[in-house]
Amino acid sequence: MSPPIVTIKTPSGLEIKLQTGLFINNEFVGSVDSDAVIESVNPSTEDVLCSVVAASAADIDKAVAAAREAFNTTWGKNVTGWERARLINKLADLIERDAQLLGELECLDNGKPVKIARDFDIGDSVQCLRYYAGFADKVTGQTIEVDNKTKWAFTRHEPIGVCGQIIPWNYPINMWAWKVAPALAMGCTIVMKPSELTPLSALKLSELVVEAGFPPGVINTVPSLGPVGGAALAAHLDVDKVAFTGSTATGRKIMEAAAKSNIKKVSLELGGKSPHLVFASADLEQAARWAALGITYNSGQDCTAGSRVYIENSIYDKFLALLVSKVEELSIGDGFDDKNGGGPVVSKGQYDRVWSYIESGKNEGARVATGGAKRTGKGFYVDPTIFTDIRPDMRIVKEEIFGPVLAVGRFDTEAEAIALANATNYGLGAGLHSSDASQCMRVSNALEAGSVWINQYNILSNNVPFGGFKQSGIGRELGSYALEEYTSVKAVHWNFGEQLDWPL
Ligand code: NAD
Repeated sequence: MSPPIVTIKTPSGLEIKLQTGLFINNEFVGSVDSDAVIESVNPSTEDVLCSVVAASAADIDKAVAAAREAFNTTWGKNVTGWERARLINKLADLIERDAQLLGELECLDNGKPVKIARDFDIGDSVQCLRYYAGFADKVTGQTIEVDNKTKWAFTRHEPIGVCGQIIPWNYPINMWAWKVAPALAMGCTIVMKPSELTPLSALKLSELVVEAGFPPGVINTVPSLGPVGGAALAAHLDVDKVAFTGSTATGRKIMEAAAKSNIKKVSLELGGKSPHLVFASADLEQAARWAALGITYNSGQDCTAGSRVYIENSIYDKFLALLVSKVEELSIGDGFDDKNGGGPVVSKGQYDRVWSYIESGKNEGARVATGGAKRTGKGFYVDPTIFTDIRPDMRIVKEEIFGPVLAVGRFDTEAEAIALANATNYGLGAGLHSSDASQCMRVSNALEAGSVWINQYNILSNNVPFGGFKQSGIGRELGSYALEEYTSVKAVHWNFGEQLDWPL
């Protein structure tokens, strides 16, 4: 029996029909050996939206086999770059056509406001697909002179093969696009495992994959619990590469599984504890807005959340007051109400986790400058909370919270600011605010982070690489750098004249 198609009615009156099966070989199917399901919960109301099929390890085998068959027949080296570009562009057009529907679905599944999902997450994902479509027919290697009389070599940039892609719940559609677009452009096939907390948009996007005309098996979607489907993908002997975004703890497990199985290529986008440095010469009004955005955007559920702000002592009181006022201006509530710029956190588990950090901050002696009190009523809402009077040993200063909780400290000298910023095992993002160009150059050089933002924060662009230093990851997404993650370089050595004289 095929899994049901459910109808989800949105508060705006839309009726979204959604396939709830696993998407393998362009069909929605049930599990081969399990009755397990994943329940999707609306974080604004705490109501169950629907259930979808949860993939077992045997289902992962089936999806990988479908991806392998497609790689060997209709995709991989069997399709031109032109055709790949045409299909990727078609998919982008369909996502753009359905942006409102996808935005509402994302709001229901994840909690983020519809306007943010539609205009930023989805708008950006459409652009990401189009950006990588442009590369699909421009895959070139090098020609290398080995000996100019008789031998040349050339390199081919071949698709790496079947890719397992494991993504988190904070930006379900962006993370899907960041992974799928460069893989398809290079000719890889995909088994995509969305987060068990937000599986719905990946299933809806799978319907668009069929409509766009991709051959069966090129993209397969298998919602599953991490330790079941995610672990099976990471350990699979017929998966050539695993691309992962999520926590550093899970990233470590994935690397281990890859090492113990077939030494598959791994790219990891992991956690962060990103600092903002605010120097006295900065435009304080602007810096306060960027810092507020850094910790409140997406309810702080952001790998690059600017969760530590360090302020130069001479402007500390003035800047703190500005920062608190900007954070308090943000309206947080139901994502279907356009006046709200922030929604709830994604789940009860995340809500409890964030609150345990807020309690630990209080217990360890930090001072609450704003927030820090629970709301009553339904929904996993957490009002942004700013702590001051922090110490480096506090959990709210050291650990990734993944919620709207900010630790604010102070410094006297540039060297002290840099040392505070770098005093973490993470190295994903960092912000600095200063109107002194030399200082911007010096400090950005010294910061240990994959992305450094000067006089802005958290602005990403599809053509600029993104990834982590230190324990924030391996490899790069976005930009032309991401193509390397999906490519095997083959060196072809060609002899057109040398006569071998062997044995000597
Ligand atoms: P998570 O590590 O719990 O889960 C991420 C994904 O991994 C999910 O799909 C999950 O099902 C899967 N998973 C869980 N256990 C697994 C296992 N044993 N084997 C294989 N897969 C497994 O992370 P999360 O809570 O979904 O997301 C939050 C984390 O993601 C944060 O740490 C955040 O910083 C990070 N993140 C990083 C980036 C980045 O680009 N660096 C972007 C977004 C989120």
